[in-house]
Amino acid sequence: MDWRIDHPCPQCGGPVTLAETDRVLACPFCKVRLHITSRGPFRYCMDLGEQPGQVVYIPYWRFKGTLFAAALDKIHPKILDSSTQAVGLDYAPMTLGLRPQLLHLRFATREVPGTYLAPKIPFKDALGVIEATLRGAQVDALRENSFEKAYIGDTTSIIYAPYFVRGGQLYDAVLKKPVGQMPQHAETIDPELVSDHKWQPSFLSAMCPHCGWDVTGEKDSCVFLCKNCEKAWRPKEERFKQVTVNTIGELEKGGKYLPFWRIKATVEGLDLATVADMVRVANLPKALTLDMEEQEFFFWIPAFKVHPQLFLRLARHITSTPFPGELKDKLPEGETHPVNLPLNEAAQSVKICIATFAKPRETMMLKLPDITVTPQKGSLVFVPFALQGSEYVHREMNFSVNKQALHYGRDL
Ligand SMILES: [Zn+2]
Ligand SMILES: [Zn+2]
Repeated sequence: MDWRIDHPCPQCGGPVTLAETDRVLACPFCKVRLHITSRGPFRYCMDLGEQPGQVVYIPYWRFKGTLFAAALDKIHPKILDSSTQAVGLDYAPMTLGLRPQLLHLRFATREVPGTYLAPKIPFKDALGVIEATLRGAQVDALRENSFEKAYIGDTTSIIYAPYFVRGGQLYDAVLKKPVGQMPQHAETIDPELVSDHKWQPSFLSAMCPHCGWDVTGEKDSCVFLCKNCEKAWRPKEERFKQVTVNTIGELEKGGKYLPFWRIKATVEGLDLATVADMVRVANLPKALTLDMEEQEFFFWIPAFKVHPQLFLRLARHITSTPFPGELKDKLPEGETHPVNLPLNEAAQSVKICIATFAKPRETMMLKLPDITVTPQKGSLVFVPFALQGSEYVHREMNFSVNKQALHYGRDL
């Protein structure tokens, strides 16, 4: 389900409609480009237009993304689009269910009138509820014997659904139908549940904080490049934070740079600090050298969205055989694929990444729950791929990424 978000341009007030994955508001009227960011998850409410009477907004966690579950035989990916109520009221629906898709969303700012209930259930617990529901539905990815789970989110947000109270009943304000009996037939919502709703999205000017030039980035980008001072930025809460960027190798004509997060993590319960450790864990047919015993090991995770099987294949392949060549301290020149998988989401997948290459498979799966992986730092590396027919190929590594898969990944 794809939602649309209506929001007036903060500069000229012109009406702008955003896709849920858009992180840049590009105003067609005054041409301003603003990066949208938030302290904590984005919050939206279902737009009812003018509404008579008092609207009660009940918050729901919404998760859209992929669940990876490592079982003995393989890693089961499952694309999810789920919601669960964030208050725990037994008289209100537990999920958003199938809402009219034509309904647009708005940012749930303090300007939208209504009584907002406070989210009480942390997101981690909400995932537990979603898992239990899926397990009940016999979803493959959630068979009891999964040894590690990772949720890689495209969207984790809070959606406020509108209700009203009348005659001791809670009504769905969209469908105008009663959905539950209020406790003791109350005529109003318990004031204890109400929050002083102060959330606002922030709009950062798409301008380099260092030199003031316009930064480049597409509407779904989560990293922006300044071609003037060669710095890269990612929004963190209400400001831009610098990202370390490297490139490796040269771009051929017609080729494209693909971005990868190179993540350093502390691994406990498994020796995985050096390249030699990785060769042993993956049981690769490679002669170990002294150099390898000293080279630091990094996880390489795609910094772009692709379907789950390709995501895993790329992470496994590149983490176990890193790109050859020297990391250069410069920004890519030429066509670059947008970075649309943020570092914090990529970091969620490092333990699943171990599950893709560790051998012997069954022994390692059983060991996974005792392994702790703590990501320490990440940098962004742009790697050049050459276009060959419908594939982007890395010649030295002898592997390719399908052009269509990259294209469709942007809509995931
Ligand atoms: Zn505007
Ligand atoms: Zn700059």
